[in-house]
Amino acid sequence: MENYQGVAIFGEWTGIEIHESTYELLSEGRRLADELESSLNVLILGPPEAKEAAQELISYGADKVVATFDEKLKDFRDDIYAQVVAEMLKKYQPEIMLFPATSLGQALAPRVAGLLKLGLTAHCIAFEIRKEDRALIQIRPSFGEQIMARIVSRTKPQMATVRPGVFPRAQKIESHQGEFEIFEPSEKALVSALEVIEKKPKPKAEVDITKAKTIVAGGLGLGSKEYFQKLFELAELLDGAVGATRPVYHLGWISEDHMIGVSGVSVRPKLYLGFGISGSLHHTVGLQGVETLVAINTDANAPLMKQADIAVQGDAKEILPLLIKKLKKLKSQREDD
Ligand SMILES: Cc1cc2nc3c(=O)[nH]c(=O)nc-3n(C[C@H](O)[C@H](O)[C@H](O)COP(=O)(O)OP(=O)(O)OC[C@H]3O[C@@H](n4cnc5c(N)ncnc54)[C@H](O)[C@@H]3O)c2cc1C
Repeated sequence: MENYQGVAIFGEWTGIEIHESTYELLSEGRRLADELESSLNVLILGPPEAKEAAQELISYGADKVVATFDEKLKDFRDDIYAQVVAEMLKKYQPEIMLFPATSLGQALAPRVAGLLKLGLTAHCIAFEIRKEDRALIQIRPSFGEQIMARIVSRTKPQMATVRPGVFPRAQKIESHQGEFEIFEPSEKALVSALEVIEKKPKPKAEVDITKAKTIVAGGLGLGSKEYFQKLFELAELLDGAVGATRPVYHLGWISEDHMIGVSGVSVRPKLYLGFGISGSLHHTVGLQGVETLVAINTDANAPLMKQADIAVQGDAKEILPLLIKKLKKLKSQREDD
């Protein structure tokens, strides 16, 4: 019998801890569940040592954590993970199922969709609920990332993967109550055609700008690598990090880890200063979580200037050194006081 209820999210176990994306899905999942006046469930798979961390997800807003622990789930193997999640979805029938668009989530979600013959929207950056029929509107950049598409599933659960870094992290509330349930998959679901021969950890990113509270970012409008380098001086004064557009990375002005947007990372700083950045959707997709956005551009009609909380029309090559000078002066005055 079909009776789809509740919002479910996939909880990702990294082999050491719960993946950061899980906490982001918990906050957005909680918001959607509250709007639908239904519950939030976490579906999680892993080896037995993941149990304690999985149980803890209740204090991050989950009403129920459904878990399968088995040594066979120690390494991520696409087929058995998909088979177990598909069995969970058949049993629990959530209205909505969200996966993180991490490497694991991007491998898993399409396989689950294939097994259950469901639709799937990849890399969503926002969701809305259509009141009249409780449909989940899944929003993502599309058509060469030029437009924001609003997509509705024709199948249930309505499934989507979610771009990491877009939603805030769920807060821990010790007093939040929920259930913990073990799901026993069929023996068949735990049979894999794959054998993990070797695991090679990916080299760690040089810098992680996703956690920065202040980001000073630069684009082609800064004109040269020399001017771009001044952003590091400003970032240091503001205790922040440096962000960049893709063309600037392609010119070799900065490493890939600093790139913000569809090809880079999403950031959530309190303050973002964009120097000489036009503000194409490719870039601004990564700025959804910015609290205060300041744009500095010679062109008042640049999209980032329109989107900004504070738009400063002027030459970034003049404003940047002046700002550095002013901040240095303020800092030395404070030290003298
Ligand atoms: C598939 C695909 C994926 C992409 N992914 C990304 C991505 O992840 N991130 C990303 O950023 N881009 C990405 N891009 C590129 C994106 O479409 C834009 O081309 C890019 O973001 C523009 O970078 P920009 O703002 O530095 O340069 P421009 O668009 O050239 O803008 C420069 C701006 O500087 C201003 N300016 C010029 N001189 C000055 C001055 N002296 N002072 C102040 N302002 C000045 C100009 O008015 C202009 O607005 C992608 C493109 C494709 C096709």
